[in-house]
Amino acid sequence: MDDLLIVRSPHTGAEVGRVTVASPEAVEAAVTRAREAFLGPVGEMTPFARYELLMGLHQQLREDRAGLARLITDETGKTLRDSASEVERALSTTLYAAEEAKRIHGRIYPCDITATVTNRMAHVYQDPVGVVAAITPFNFPLNTVLHKVAPAIAAGNTVVLKPSPKAPLTAERLGRCWQRAGAPPHLFTIVQGGATVGEQLAAHPAVRVLNFTGSTAVGRHLTTIAGLKKLLFELGGNDPLILMPDGEITAAVRVAVEQGLGSCGQRCTAIKRIFVHEQVKESFLAELTAAVQKLRVGDPLDPATDLGPLISPEAAQTVEERVEEAVAQGAVPLVRGRRDGAFLPPVVLDRTPEGCALVREETFGPVLPVFGFVDLEVCIRQVNDTVFGLQAGVFTNNLAVVKRLRRKLEVGTLVVNGGPGFRIDAIPFGGVKESGLGREGVIAAVREMTEERVLIW
Ligand code: NAD
Repeated sequence: MDDLLIVRSPHTGAEVGRVTVASPEAVEAAVTRAREAFLGPVGEMTPFARYELLMGLHQQLREDRAGLARLITDETGKTLRDSASEVERALSTTLYAAEEAKRIHGRIYPCDITATVTNRMAHVYQDPVGVVAAITPFNFPLNTVLHKVAPAIAAGNTVVLKPSPKAPLTAERLGRCWQRAGAPPHLFTIVQGGATVGEQLAAHPAVRVLNFTGSTAVGRHLTTIAGLKKLLFELGGNDPLILMPDGEITAAVRVAVEQGLGSCGQRCTAIKRIFVHEQVKESFLAELTAAVQKLRVGDPLDPATDLGPLISPEAAQTVEERVEEAVAQGAVPLVRGRRDGAFLPPVVLDRTPEGCALVREETFGPVLPVFGFVDLEVCIRQVNDTVFGLQAGVFTNNLAVVKRLRRKLEVGTLVVNGGPGFRIDAIPFGGVKESGLGREGVIAAVREMTEERVLIW
């Protein structure tokens, strides 16, 4: 009998839907057919045809935006507000990719730059790689998927996707949008399942780019089984927000709440640590505590709700245990509530010991540990004292501080007078250190999923 994956709402526990786990034969067939499609009809598509197809997908997604947002909430527990915002971003990602399909062009170099060669040119083409395998996490089941699929297809590749088993239904709905947009067979294939299916896909020799978003632990494991193929990895984060004495406190508090606690902190770019200059720390903590205490935890479908459930009771329990450990080691809870299944009220901590797991690991939940500092150089060392390096935010108008942080912070992006959660889906996005390999963001992703091939003439 087929292996079924039953998806339950993290809010009610009710079944939302079910998918069939792909057998080893089905995974093999998906990759083989994707390769054949690339060598056949998909390979014959012009950039304009790919642009039109992606515009068709964009139209289908627009028409289905309410249904998509509702499904994201049903299967992940994110508030409907967060899900609707994800759908809007997914529309932008698709539009950027459609536009980029028409902008992939090569370069020409003269070859007569040595004493021995005359009258020759090198024409560098930017060609698709073939089959791209995409493996995605639960937290953005539409936009993270489109960040892989849309640029891969804009570039002329075919894609086999393995979505998260915790949120596989949104991908199925995306697949139906592709069909209605008129995608040719095997341009985009979904194989459902967990680690076993993911490993088969990752190790497959016909896959030329493995495009993975997920935890650093799984990313590290995938490097050991992927073999000789290109790796494009977006991994975990432990992103800081820094508030300098001249920074706007109220704006920093607003960003801390939105980007630290939005989606219950289950975002790679969520604020996970807050560094506040001692001169303004007391005022910041007073405003932050008041703002967090006003947040409403509850039904993710209710527009008044700020925080829904985490993805599962187990995930909420892991976060709760880390908070308990930090408090046992001396952290002072300024806001804290009782966990109820997958629901974990937001937590604000002061004086959290830096060695505890809550700070060292990526804590995927609604927890804001606040640290005081006086010397910027000490703050920089603390910020960098992690294996992660995704994004950072700073509140200041001091240009010298901005320039110093830009050079010294080990992160992919620094946001000034904003938080690390800021992202425009077209521009390069990715981490340094163990937060990733390569860059996504549609323009960079197209480059990563193509390879340069040369014609000498
Ligand atoms: P996860 O690493 O548990 O799972 C991600 C995907 O990998 C899932 O599809 C899962 O089934 C698959 N997988 C798990 N084990 C595997 C294995 N052995 N072989 C092949 N595939 C395997 O992550 P998650 O809990 O779904 O998502 C949260 C993580 O994703 C966090 O670490 C978060 O920071 C990260 N994330 C990063 C970004 C980014 O852009 N940097 C964006 C979103 C999420």
